[in-house]
Amino acid sequence: MQKLSDILKTWLPAQWDALLQQYLPAAVLTDNFWSGRPGPCPVCGGNDRFTFDNKNGRGDWVCRRCNDGSPMAGDGIQLVCRVNRISYLELEAQLLGNAAPLVPQARPATAQRVAGRMSPEAKLLRVTKQWEHAKPLQAGDHAMRYLATRVPGLRAPRPVALRLAVQAYWHERAQIGRFPTIVAQFLLPDGRMATVHRTSLDPALPVKATVVSADGEILDAKRNDVSALPLSGGAVRLMPPRDGVLGVTEGLETAYAAHMLFGVPTWYCLNRVLLSKFVVPDGFGIHTVHIFADFDAVDPKTGKSPGMADALTLAKRLRAEGFKVQVHRPKIRGTDFCDEWKTSRQLGAITPAPMTA
Ligand SMILES: [Zn+2]
Repeated sequence: MQKLSDILKTWLPAQWDALLQQYLPAAVLTDNFWSGRPGPCPVCGGNDRFTFDNKNGRGDWVCRRCNDGSPMAGDGIQLVCRVNRISYLELEAQLLGNAAPLVPQARPATAQRVAGRMSPEAKLLRVTKQWEHAKPLQAGDHAMRYLATRVPGLRAPRPVALRLAVQAYWHERAQIGRFPTIVAQFLLPDGRMATVHRTSLDPALPVKATVVSADGEILDAKRNDVSALPLSGGAVRLMPPRDGVLGVTEGLETAYAAHMLFGVPTWYCLNRVLLSKFVVPDGFGIHTVHIFADFDAVDPKTGKSPGMADALTLAKRLRAEGFKVQVHRPKIRGTDFCDEWKTSRQLGAITPAPMTA
């Protein structure tokens, strides 16, 4: 009879990865785990005592306290046994009894791929941890400098819905880099956090990071993490509504630009589809909603400007729900309010429209 120890001698690193993928809980298999940074031990806890160093390509790890408080190291088989509290013989029986061989899988490269393996509880834990580990913004920090570059002259309340962290950027199997990252808290109408949206910044300059994969693909500096809950209806609550009036936009920068142009406290919904599904939360006394649309170029397939079309969809629904609604669009097709704010500043024609409730 075949023995597991003989099979393991032939295993490639990808097969060790596959073993961990298959037999460790998704909550253990975080970006932090795969990146080999110190973190909590999946067996004995703590904060930073455990490192997945994979030094022999056999799922290798080391923990400072796993041996009754003393250091311990092992391979992927030992880790799977310890985390799942099963013996080597039990795992061997399971692996050899498996009709299908262990198929090497790609590492979870993107939030979407991670998401496929995660329970709703693990997803919520993952986004909550990212939020809790990020720091509140402070005057002059990297996030504030970025925002001041995108929206020159920006004056707004310090955002409690934005934080700053240094995060690894993963793509396919590789960590592309570590970037200062704006972490935005996306809340549903009932106040539950559904995801965090991340904007990776250049480590030196106050601009978005240029993220390039190993094969030269330019990757998006902005992306959501996993969705712990469906995102429909939610927004990033950038500033408190005032006197029952709230503005909404697709993006972070356009929210601030619209705030500067119109003096309206503004939230953002991440994209036009979510903007069209925005739900006004109870408890703020909101009676008037300003929709600041992106004036996208016309889509030849639909004959419509997508940003405008979704803004009008939202306006129609909110009016039917009894809200006073005003739709605003930039003067020039193919621009958004961020462009409009910059242009108006350059022209020196800054006349914020008075806010009417
Ligand atoms: Zn341990």
